[in-house]
Amino acid sequence: MHAHVKSKTINLLDFDRKGLAAFFVGLGEKPFRATQLLKWIYQEGIEDFDLMTNLSKSLREYLKENCTIITPEIVVEQIASDGTRKWALQTSCGNRVETVFIPEEGRGTLCVSSQIGCALACTFCSTAQQGFNRNLTTAEIIGQVIVAQQRLGSEKRITNVVMMGMGEPLLNFDNVIAAMNLMMDDFCFGLSKRRVTISTSGVVPAIYRLTEVCDVSLAVSLHAVTDELRDVLVPINKKYPLQELMEACRENAKIAPRRTITFEYVMLNGINDSMDDARGLVKLLKTVPAKINLIPFNPFPQSSYQCSSKATIERFKTLLNDAGIVTTVRKTRGEDIDAACGQLVGQVEDKSRRHLKLKLQNDERAA
Ligand code: SAH
Repeated sequence: MHAHVKSKTINLLDFDRKGLAAFFVGLGEKPFRATQLLKWIYQEGIEDFDLMTNLSKSLREYLKENCTIITPEIVVEQIASDGTRKWALQTSCGNRVETVFIPEEGRGTLCVSSQIGCALACTFCSTAQQGFNRNLTTAEIIGQVIVAQQRLGSEKRITNVVMMGMGEPLLNFDNVIAAMNLMMDDFCFGLSKRRVTISTSGVVPAIYRLTEVCDVSLAVSLHAVTDELRDVLVPINKKYPLQELMEACRENAKIAPRRTITFEYVMLNGINDSMDDARGLVKLLKTVPAKINLIPFNPFPQSSYQCSSKATIERFKTLLNDAGIVTTVRKTRGEDIDAACGQLVGQVEDKSRRHLKLKLQNDERAA
């Protein structure tokens, strides 16, 4: 009966509910099989098709022959002194990505990766130095949540997910959206849209697409208030400059009343941390419902930036708060295991030419 689907290895974790329903319809099954299967996988934790007793025998046979339920494998676990945990996960192609769990009073946030490495070249981020290998599949993205929750056991719950690990999530649009749909699906992780956040460096067309298809919370890595500086720190700004980015943010903010966008701003000593920058930030965000998250810069080998002083960060924050923009300073977590923002590196076999370019630059500097 199900002969027309040829591929032998369909990983069922690659589908959100809609995708799964379409898959079953393609097999001549009813769409509600999707919810039945999701419940088995995500709520019962069952991967053995034989145990999925509400599916017909022939469907179970078909699934056994053609489908798998495969999550990435944890190969390294590190636990920081503050309880933050970092896992290195092995992907099918031998590369590794990192996932971080951050326990806080009353909640637990999982920081999830979307790509192996990153194709963007933000100068203050260590993932960028790794180069880029490929997009993660939906199974590899939702798989991070599955294995992290398994590993944490029943005491510690993942209550929030932020797509702030390795990679630019909006450049892996379809797989990231499907994975976030699973995070929010009542038959899977059932997290509210306020507790699932996608963070982007500012891929403007993809922000518009996101606004149309998915109402997760949005965070934007801003880091500079002039195009001149942002072109250097977040080079994708050359393609999508600040005014275009702000317009896309205003559109996104219309999704729901009282919705705010979080703007992330890394504090780089002497680079973007003057009071003029703070005033520029107030002006830039005047027409967007915004809150600001200041991120103390986390150094990594070969980084040439320094973090702003505590006093500067405080002054910067106070100016913003006084101007009426809710501003917080992100607590640095998991520093002793390199699990903080911008420190995730995994193990990436670079397929871009980033390494080569960096090496040439370094050689030039040395010469
Ligand atoms: N590519 C997406 C997702 C990464 S999120 C994005 O750019 O939003 C990771 C966050 O940490 C981003 O805001 C990023 O700008 C910030 N970050 C990167 N390197 C950092 C560093 N060395 N110190 C502090 N924050 C950093």
